[in-house]
Amino acid sequence: MSVLVYVENAEGKFKKSIFEAVSYAKSVAAQLDTSLIAISIGNVAQDELAKLAKYGANKTLNVNTEQLKTFVNQAYASVIAEAAKKENAEVVVLSNSFSGKGLAPRIGVKLEAAVISGAIELPDTTGGQFKVKRSAFSNKAFATVEATSKVKVISLTPNAYQVIEKAGEGNIEDFNAPVDQQDLKAVIKEVVRATDKVSLPDAELVVSAGRGLKGPENWGMIEELASLLGAATACSKPVSDADWRPHSEHVGQTGIAISPNLYIAIGISGAIQHLAGVSSSKVIVVINKDPEAPFFKVADYGIVGDAFEIVPKLIEAVKSL
Ligand code: FAD
Repeated sequence: MSVLVYVENAEGKFKKSIFEAVSYAKSVAAQLDTSLIAISIGNVAQDELAKLAKYGANKTLNVNTEQLKTFVNQAYASVIAEAAKKENAEVVVLSNSFSGKGLAPRIGVKLEAAVISGAIELPDTTGGQFKVKRSAFSNKAFATVEATSKVKVISLTPNAYQVIEKAGEGNIEDFNAPVDQQDLKAVIKEVVRATDKVSLPDAELVVSAGRGLKGPENWGMIEELASLLGAATACSKPVSDADWRPHSEHVGQTGIAISPNLYIAIGISGAIQHLAGVSSSKVIVVINKDPEAPFFKVADYGIVGDAFEIVPKLIEAVKSL
């Protein structure tokens, strides 16, 4: 028996959300008194793979073939399911990322496993049960799901579990699972944008702005504050609908759901659909000139004032630190 964790890479590197998934999977393995196996697919250097041992991987299966160089949902799901069978995995853990959301149900079908998506806590395994808390209805509720199948697939919400470093060693093995040509029928066209900006889904700090900013020409100060803090930028839906900002920055019910450690909302009213994607942020700071803005009800810190006066002052304050 074992626990298997899929470690997706972004251009050959593992993001923080992957170390969270490995730490979470290690804790599950400890609960079940078994070992943790990681599986990496794609071109990842040995020194990057070696990092996984620090978070508890006892062994890493490395699938680095030409066919699987870029992400192909069906093929990746088949390879992960084969690895799970080979390692007799009782639990398969993934990050609930874009690719994780697509992979988890496919792996579940292949392994006849229950799938728990968006887990936010470790399983409760007392008395032989297997119950996991997950967020539901765009973070407005929690559901505790009991999995009764022999094998379970869990996708972990990014930023819901801490990264835990452990002193340990693990070996790296090549794994060559046979790939069904049917699984490789889809043509993958990957568009990689050269940017040094922090990626929004993984960001620990987010500076977000809404219609209160009046127009795209005023985002300079938002970019500057974000860059000084090492934060990602985000926006409300009307802002991306109006093409002031790219759709990839739109957070909320119909956009990306994020849970950073700090979310700074500037000139955003705090409509329920916006809050649905950001309310699980650890600390929320709201800057709005309207003291009645609904966002203040969920804010940890609020500044009532004009963004065009407050944000430049914040920038100066951060620069002077
Ligand atoms: P506004 O509501 O116009 O608010 C602007 C705010 O800026 C106001 O509170 C105002 O007081 C403040 N302000 C103005 N000037 C200043 C200034 N100088 N300084 C400081 N503050 C200032 N919205 C999302 O964001 N994400 C979603 O995913 C989403 N999904 C939706 C799905 C559905 C089905 C529907 C119906 C709506 C959805 N919406 C979503 C839209 C949502 O209902 C709101 O309309 C939207 O969030 C409002 O955006 P806003 O706060 O930027 O703009």
